[in-house]
Amino acid sequence: MSILIKNTNILTMVENTIVKGNILVEDNLITRIGEFDFEADEIIDGSNFITMPGIVNAHTHIAMSLLRNYADDLPFWPWLTEKIWPAEANLNEESVYWGSMLSIAEMIASGTTTFCDMYFFTEETIKAVKETGIRANLSRGLVSGEEEGEKLQNAINLHNEFHLKDEGRIRIDLGPHAPYTCSDDYLKKIAGEAGKRDTNIHIHLSESKKEIEDSIEKNGNTPIEHVNSLGLFDHPTIAAHCVNVNDDDIQILADKKVNVVNNPSSNLKLANGFAPVNEMMKKGINVALGTDGPSSNNNQDMFEEMHLAALVNKVISNDTTVLPAYEVLKMATVNGAKALRVDNIVGTLEVGKHADIILVDIHNPHMYPHHDLIASLVYSASSSDVDTVIVDGKILYQNKKFLTIDIETVYKKAQKASERLTGDKNEI
Ligand SMILES: [Zn+2]
Repeated sequence: MSILIKNTNILTMVENTIVKGNILVEDNLITRIGEFDFEADEIIDGSNFITMPGIVNAHTHIAMSLLRNYADDLPFWPWLTEKIWPAEANLNEESVYWGSMLSIAEMIASGTTTFCDMYFFTEETIKAVKETGIRANLSRGLVSGEEEGEKLQNAINLHNEFHLKDEGRIRIDLGPHAPYTCSDDYLKKIAGEAGKRDTNIHIHLSESKKEIEDSIEKNGNTPIEHVNSLGLFDHPTIAAHCVNVNDDDIQILADKKVNVVNNPSSNLKLANGFAPVNEMMKKGINVALGTDGPSSNNNQDMFEEMHLAALVNKVISNDTTVLPAYEVLKMATVNGAKALRVDNIVGTLEVGKHADIILVDIHNPHMYPHHDLIASLVYSASSSDVDTVIVDGKILYQNKKFLTIDIETVYKKAQKASERLTGDKNEI
């Protein structure tokens, strides 16, 4: 199978420029970029589009789509402990499957081709990833308490069974939820298992102010200092949030090459603050971008996150030159791929890389005139401009239509599954 994207505006994310040309995809790889002729099986006229790498959502909990707009405008702790956790106690396989399908549909339609997830009933999310054709790093959420050993064993089993399966589209990481939900012993054990398998660790760190206060009271140090002392950062780590961090924390993250995921919508909505992205980047930290779960965002729209990351970091730095458009696009592509350790295969458009490609429509009122199209992607575009999405050489979405998802069934099933979790009966 070959796909030729002809006469398009190519943003490779290798260089800060857009060039006219063609891209050839053969099987699952990008095989040519430039000016050439080729009789491909499928030809896409790319003239009205920016053709760029698929977006990487580096931190989310996709099945939480079922709790979207269920518990809003509440303080963080009551939101989590009185609304989200009780509803999640009703989760089962079927609900996680349909919640995953709903978010995967949303992600594909908004240009995300790879996501990094932490949640429960991970087998069901794996099933949804396989069926839809998207790419994912998945981790089963791990918290201390009853059956913590079984949960870790389940995570190890998932790794043994599914890691690098389905043409390598599925990777299994280990996902200790946070230092405030995992005991020190448990975190050490998880770190040991990650080391044995060379998996990523995916964890929430320093999200709320309360988390910092509690850690200092309990351990005498910050969450970042604490997990570092436990050896967690001796393994590749994807650390979501890192909002409430001091200079010493930032130095540890830099020294230990921890990948930070900025989630501006979630941090703003839950009033947790602003991660000092510019300060972290100045120290050489790899900062990626994520949406967090759909109940604290309330969508999976990475164009919105790019827009917010650019604006929020300018205002907190009191500097309009901070996080220019291309840097923000890097957070959503190259840096995300690097955080997930898939940058050898995706994150840029290069010959030999896997074909995870999106086409963004620039033939819209809000995209004219065409001055600096890189700036347009961050400051003017919206996710609804995404027209075509290719993952691993397979077209999943074309002319804004799903090719691997029966979307009406997903809406119905997700609505039903949501009502079962919350007990609310809603009219469709
Ligand atoms: Zn999260």
